[in-house]
Order: sequence, then structure tokens, then C-alpha cells
Amino acid sequence: MPELKFVIVGHVDHGKSTLIGRLLYDTDSLPPDRIEEMKKTSGELGRETEFAFLLDHLKEEREQGVTIDTTQTFFHTPSREYVIIDAPGHVEFVKNMVTGASQAEAAVLIIDAAEGIREQTRRHAYILSLLGISQVIVVLNKMDLAGYEEARYHELKRETGEFLESIGTASGFFIPISALKGDNIVRKGEGLDWYQGPTFLEALDSLRERVAPADLPLIFPVQDIYRTDGKRMVVGRVESGRIERGQRVRVLPGDYETAVRSVEKFNEERTAAAASESVGVTLEDSLFVERGMVICEKDRPPATTREFKATLFWMSKAGLDPSRKIDLRCATQQVSCEIAEIERRIDSSDLRVVEERAGTLENLEVGEVRIRTKKPIAVERFQAVQELGRFVLMRENNICAGGIITGWE
Ligand code: GDP
Repeated sequence: MPELKFVIVGHVDHGKSTLIGRLLYDTDSLPPDRIEEMKKTSGELGRETEFAFLLDHLKEEREQGVTIDTTQTFFHTPSREYVIIDAPGHVEFVKNMVTGASQAEAAVLIIDAAEGIREQTRRHAYILSLLGISQVIVVLNKMDLAGYEEARYHELKRETGEFLESIGTASGFFIPISALKGDNIVRKGEGLDWYQGPTFLEALDSLRERVAPADLPLIFPVQDIYRTDGKRMVVGRVESGRIERGQRVRVLPGDYETAVRSVEKFNEERTAAAASESVGVTLEDSLFVERGMVICEKDRPPATTREFKATLFWMSKAGLDPSRKIDLRCATQQVSCEIAEIERRIDSSDLRVVEERAGTLENLEVGEVRIRTKKPIAVERFQAVQELGRFVLMRENNICAGGIITGWE
């Protein structure tokens, strides 16, 4: 069955957990004992069924690593499997998104209809827009608290639409819901009969799955070298394009040229491998190849550079000190780098330019920066090939920033 991965983002308490709980419940994705437990806990507290409890429970389980993957929750409709990628806090969200750990194809932006757009609504939406996630469903939640008022819906829809447009993104869906009551999640809501559009699940089912573009140039970052039976097997994941037996390739950053002698997967010979496959390859010439190099097509290599422009998300309590050495990781490449210039410093909650030619970036700020690496690395624009267009910065083995590459001279 086809699969679609999405994130749910929004300001804290706007109802993310409740929406996830409600989705799992209404799509029969929960074991009966779990439902009983949730009803019991809610009842003991004198409340109606509290779907957020369900999620707290799932979270606990995940922390113990019992049944559910650490960051993903699953459900399905008759037409598709869904994976909800969970981002517990703002920093985790940014890390997941920028490092590509989540690979979300779509996003749901949840807004409390009574409260409207808040700080994290803005930050998260901005990140979605920078990362080019163009499929966004806006759900206006807690309509029950807003008296199911049509006027409130239109007001919020306009406000949200204008805000999204101001950051260069858009949404095809503005759905009034009550996650708590289950209105317009899987079935239509009684108080919302003035609304003619799709339910949340119908909107999800109408999104497109990401199709790996067939004709992207090959990007094969080297993860490791295995030596077996006198062969040197270069192991990695095809991040884009195809790798084929006989293909002329280059190995960056040294810019050596050779050809692919063999492609293997699980000890079986293949003629080719496509994007997202992890394979081993042997090369015709015995070149020096090590982890961090990038194998690409002879005629369509990515740029090799020591300096590039990027949008940087600073995510550490200790601000950016440009005089301190930082390690940069991009695909499997790892090099020492410096922030040569902070051209603009931006507040990610209101997108205001705080300072031009700044000297630092503080926690949660965004910078348009120029980065200089100690050694040349292979890069792409994020919009062209995500895997070579995003990177993280590490200080003492902790991620302190994530970024996307926007260009080079
Ligand atoms: P999160 O922080 O975004 O995950 O928010 P939660 O899902 O934990 O919800 C925060 C609070 O809002 C909880 O007490 C929920 O019961 C409540 N809540 C969520 N959705 C609704 C809704 O549609 N209507 C009402 N009345 N309350 C809701």
C-alpha cells in the first residue's frame, strides 16, 4: 500500500496530541485495551474522553521502546498508510526537519480557533516554508470552544492565509475541526454544517505522495569501505538518481574519474540501484576512497566548494561565536568550518530582520550566513537535491544548528 509521511505542527496546547489520538481512534488503529484505559483515566478525572491521555501513554511506551517506533505513529485509510512524524518540542521539530530525519512529505498546521496564530505557529510555518514543504493542511481546532461560529472560521482563515502568503507558502485547506469531539476529523461535525469542504481525513487522502524524480543526477555519499575476498566494496545509500554497472563516475572532492564495476545488494549482483537503496559498489580503478566522499555522475557533478551561502537555524542556548571552530556534517561528509559572515539575523517568530551583518545568533534565531569549510566539500542547493543541500553544525558532538544551502559563488 502507498505511504505518506506528515508532521503535525503548531503552538503548544493547540491540540496536536488530541488530534493524533482522535485520528488513531476514529480510524480503528488502536487495540481495545488501550481505548478502555483511556476512557477510564478520563472518567477518573471527571472528564470526557481525553485523547491527549492516549498520546501521553503512547509516548511513555515509546520512551521504553516497547511497541512503537521512537518518532513515528501509524494509521491507515482504505487508500493509504500514514506515518505521523512526531516532534515533541520546538527544537526537536527543527532538528527533525532540518536534518532530514523526518522526510515529511506534507504538514498539518494546527491552530486553536479561540487563540489564533501564536509564536510557535509562526516559527513552525516559517520552517515549513523554508524547507519547501508545499503541501500544508491548516486545521482550525477547538471550534467547539469558539461556539462553532462560521464568522470566526472565516476571520481565522483569512488571517492564516495572509500570514502563510507573507512567508511565501500557501495552503489548499482550512478545515474547522474539534479534535476533542471528533468534528470534521473522519466524519462531518454537527455544529459545522455550514462548512462544505472536505473532512481532515479526506484532505489527507487527497495529498500527493512524493515520487522520487527519475532524472536527478546520481548522488552516492560513501558511508564505509568493506574489504572482502580481495575486493574493496564502497558502501552507501543512493540519495538521488541511479548507480549502474559500467557507469562513468567521479569521486568527489578529489575529482577522480572511474567506472562502476559492480553493484551489490544483500550479496546479490545487480545491474543498477535507485534512490533510497543502500548498496555496495566496486570500482574499476583502485582509487583512494573513504567515508565522506561522494560518488556522482561524470557529467553532472554537484558543486565542490569551500564556501557557500546558507540559511542557518541556531538551536543552542549558547549563542553562535564565530571565532569558535565548528564541525559541519553534510550527508556523510564531515569537515571543520567557520561562519565567515552573518549577513542577516532573523527572529524566527515574527520573521523580523533583527540585524544586518550581525556578530552572533541566539537560540532559535535564523541567520542568512556564509560558511567557509577547511576542506572542499560537495554541495547542492537544498531545493535541487535535499540530501546534499542540508547540513548540521556540531559543537563537542552536540548539534547546535541545522541549515540549508542556498547558493555559492
Ligand atoms: P498539544 O500540546 O498541541 O499536544 O495539545 P493537547 O492535545 O495536549 O491539547 C491541549 C488541551 O486542549 C487539552 O486539554 C485538550 O483536551 C484540549 N483540546 C484539544 N483539542 C480540543 C478541542 O477540539 N476542543 C476542546 N474543547 N479542547 C481541546
